[in-house]
Amino acid sequence: PSVYGMEVINSPTTDYTDIGGLNKQITELKETVELPLTKPDKFKEIGIEPPKGILLYGPPGTGKTLMAKAVANKTEASFIKVVGSELVQKYIGEGARLVREVFKLAEEKSPSIIFIDELDAIGARRQKSSTSGDREVQRTLMQLLSEMDGFDARGEVKLIGATNRPDILDKALLRPGRFDRIIKVPMPDKDARQQIFDIHTRNMNLEDDISLEKISSMTEEHSGADIKAITTEAGMLAIRNDRNKVKMEDFLKAVEKVKESNPAEQFGEA
Ligand code: ATP
Repeated sequence: PSVYGMEVINSPTTDYTDIGGLNKQITELKETVELPLTKPDKFKEIGIEPPKGILLYGPPGTGKTLMAKAVANKTEASFIKVVGSELVQKYIGEGARLVREVFKLAEEKSPSIIFIDELDAIGARRQKSSTSGDREVQRTLMQLLSEMDGFDARGEVKLIGATNRPDILDKALLRPGRFDRIIKVPMPDKDARQQIFDIHTRNMNLEDDISLEKISSMTEEHSGADIKAITTEAGMLAIRNDRNKVKMEDFLKAVEKVKESNPAEQFGEA
C-alpha cells in the first residue's frame, strides 16, 4: 500500500548481490542493521545497545537506496522511504505530522526499515534567520529527533538516513542513540565499476567483442546510476539497429551519450 508522502514496499527484492563494489560498506551494514534485527539476543548477551539509526553519505547514484533496500530484503522487513525535501516542501505544515505517521506505520509493519533520503533537507544545522519555511523545517526535525528518542534500540524498527551533505547536518542528529554510525558510500573505482557493469549486463545479450573491463577504464567519475544508464542506452542502440545482440560499438556510443547528458560536463565543470 502506498501512503501519501511515503513509499512503502513490504519486502523489497533487491539483494546484496545487486550491489557492485561496496563490500566494506555492506559488511558494516550487516553488523549495524541486519544483525540487531536477526540476532537481537547477541546484543543482549554482550550487554550493548545496537544502533537505532545509521547514516549513509556520498554522491548521488552510488547505491545508498540499494543498500537500504537490500538490508530490508535480507531481514524480511518493510521498507518505508521518505524524502526529506518532500516532507517539508510538498505539504506545508505537514512535515511533523508525516514524520509521526511514518514511525507509527513502521511500528505497525515491523520489522521495518525507515529510509530517509535527503536527510539534510530536514536536518541541516539550525540557523538564526527564521522564515516560515525554516520554522517548518525545524518543527519537522524536532519531531524526527523526538521519534528517534522514543523508540527502543532493541526493537524491530531501524532508521537509515542518506545525504550527500553530511557537513551541514545538525549535530543533534548524530548524537548517540540517533544516527550514531556513519558509513561513507563513495564513487566506484575501476574494479567497482566493472562489478556494476557485470551486474547490469547480467541479463543482456552481449556480442563476444565486448570488453567491460575496457569500458570500466573509460568511465572514471561515473556513478552506479550513470553505469546503469550506459547499459540501458547500449541496449537501446541495438534495438534501434534491429540487432538481437549488443556490440562494443553500442557501449562506446552509449558512454559518449551519457557523458553529454551529464549536466556537470555540459557546463564544463566535470
Ligand atoms: P541518491 O542519493 O540520488 O538517492 P543513491 O545513492 O540512493 O542516490 P541508488 O538509488 O541506490 O543511489 O542508485 C540508483 C540506481 O543506480 C540503482 O537503482 C542502480 O540501478 C544503480 N546503482 C547505483 N549504485 C550502484 C551499485 N553500487 N551497484 C549496482 N548498481 C548501482
